Amino acid sequence: MCLLGIDLGGTSIKAGLVDINGKILKKGQVPTGAGEGTTAVLKRIKNLARDLAGEQGLALGELEGVGIGIPGSVDVARGLVHLAPNLFWRDFSLRDELAALLDLPVAIENDAHVAALGEMWQGAGRGYTSILMVTIGTGIGSGLIIDGRVHHGLFGYGAEMGHIKMVCDGRQCHCGGHGCLETLASATAMVKSFREYLAAGYPSMLSDRPELGAKEILAAAAGGDELAGRVIDEAACYLGTALANAVLLVGPEAIIIGGGPAQAGEVILDPIRKHLAAAMGTWQLKPVPVLQAALGNDAGIIGAAYLAMKTSSQY
Ligand SMILES: [Zn+2]
Repeated sequence: MCLLGIDLGGTSIKAGLVDINGKILKKGQVPTGAGEGTTAVLKRIKNLARDLAGEQGLALGELEGVGIGIPGSVDVARGLVHLAPNLFWRDFSLRDELAALLDLPVAIENDAHVAALGEMWQGAGRGYTSILMVTIGTGIGSGLIIDGRVHHGLFGYGAEMGHIKMVCDGRQCHCGGHGCLETLASATAMVKSFREYLAAGYPSMLSDRPELGAKEILAAAAGGDELAGRVIDEAACYLGTALANAVLLVGPEAIIIGGGPAQAGEVILDPIRKHLAAAMGTWQLKPVPVLQAALGNDAGIIGAAYLAMKTSSQY
């Protein structure tokens, strides 16, 4: 049994053939070329799928099913992409069009949920059936799985943790709100906070660096830089507090942290755990594990293959 998992991004299409045990057999990627229109993107997906199947000695029709993660809001039941700004898609019937083109069953899902499925199946979330995955990057994405099933909620609001409100009248968010978690704890927010402190005269070993990212701040924090440590601790405080709210609301068995900053490991995970525990107070009967994501960039491919497997097993 061979499944095709596709991680469709604004810049590149990553795809992999995955076996029933979650092992990637072949993988490849091509530019998305979203500006050339929908038909061109679907054609590139088909070519990539055919090439990967060919490398494995298979025809396209021998694949069991296809799963695809989309950077946007998705109506899973109807197979529609409501809105994917990076792809310039709006109310596009991706599932049916791609199924017709490939002549295979296709399942679609939002990419943050797909990554969570991947981590639950083969990554840090193995052995759990209810997990919350939070991905820290330019923004903050999240996927929530309850009892093995993705929780979408009304209009897909289920698990948009990046935009839960942490501060009334806080920083302006691109979503139109104020004080959203991602304005306070994303990689972008860490850099913004750090620069604000520098401008206010706080000393740091990074003060003469013109180019500065969250990676450098995390490394400086690990190296004992006081200001970097302060910025990371503040971001972790917002993350830990938001996670405590999520634990009290839905009670996941484990929390998985993904994205670039999570790769720094304990320098960010430790303060998140500390603030989560503080926010839980006496409600914390037993700490909810806060784990570093294990699959990196493959989470999208593996999660999409899992989606394909679950969908095709219903036939
Ligand atoms: Zn927002």
